[in-house]
Amino acid sequence: MNSLTRRQALKSTLLLGGSFFISTRVTRALAQAAAPSGPFKLTPLGYAFDALEPYIDARTMEIHYTKHHAAYVNNLNKAVADYPELQKMSVEELVTNLDKVPEKVRTAVRNNAGGDYNHTLFWKCLKKDAGMEEGPLREALGQLFGDEESGKQEFLSKALGVFGSGWIWISVDKNKDLVLETTPNQDTPLSKGNKPLVGIDLWEHAYYLKYQNRRNEYVGALINCINWPYVEERYRKFTA
Ligand code: MN
Repeated sequence: MNSLTRRQALKSTLLLGGSFFISTRVTRALAQAAAPSGPFKLTPLGYAFDALEPYIDARTMEIHYTKHHAAYVNNLNKAVADYPELQKMSVEELVTNLDKVPEKVRTAVRNNAGGDYNHTLFWKCLKKDAGMEEGPLREALGQLFGDEESGKQEFLSKALGVFGSGWIWISVDKNKDLVLETTPNQDTPLSKGNKPLVGIDLWEHAYYLKYQNRRNEYVGALINCINWPYVEERYRKFTA
């Protein structure tokens, strides 16, 4: 082998070695994209995917939890990857203090910490046949809405009025009064200083498989599927 040929052979080997190295790194990066490590974890759902049938079908629940909710957690981990100070904060602290989040990742944190916080609360707020007892929450809801039927209508009407994706909430404001409010995208009431008691996801991914475009039927069904004892527990905590 003359020296020129040997140099070419060496060069080819290096190139091959180089491309092998690159492809290994790409594979590893893809694996991390599927399940990135990070401080934030997907909170267990706490019940079976079919637990809320027929209000929410099992398939919708499975996709919503394992794909949509999980994606918010994964993307939050990616957003804070270079910020050790953000990794130490809870999701609630992040969405309550967005002004402290560096501008470069603020939108990503707002959307994905918000997405995680909202969904974790949403799952806890749903339960079949969990009626509301007499007590301070029922009284406060009466003050906000009047009778139960008017309350349902007002809630439904406000939910239908949300353009695009967002959430509807009953929250406790700074004066400890109940408020009916909506937020766009994955924004949370916490960012404006209110404490959410119960929220309903108005994104199409929450209902499209079963209800298609009929948000009114979906919200109407979910009003009958609220975990009122849990909402009452939150109300007592925030108004104590
Ligand atoms: Mn959702």
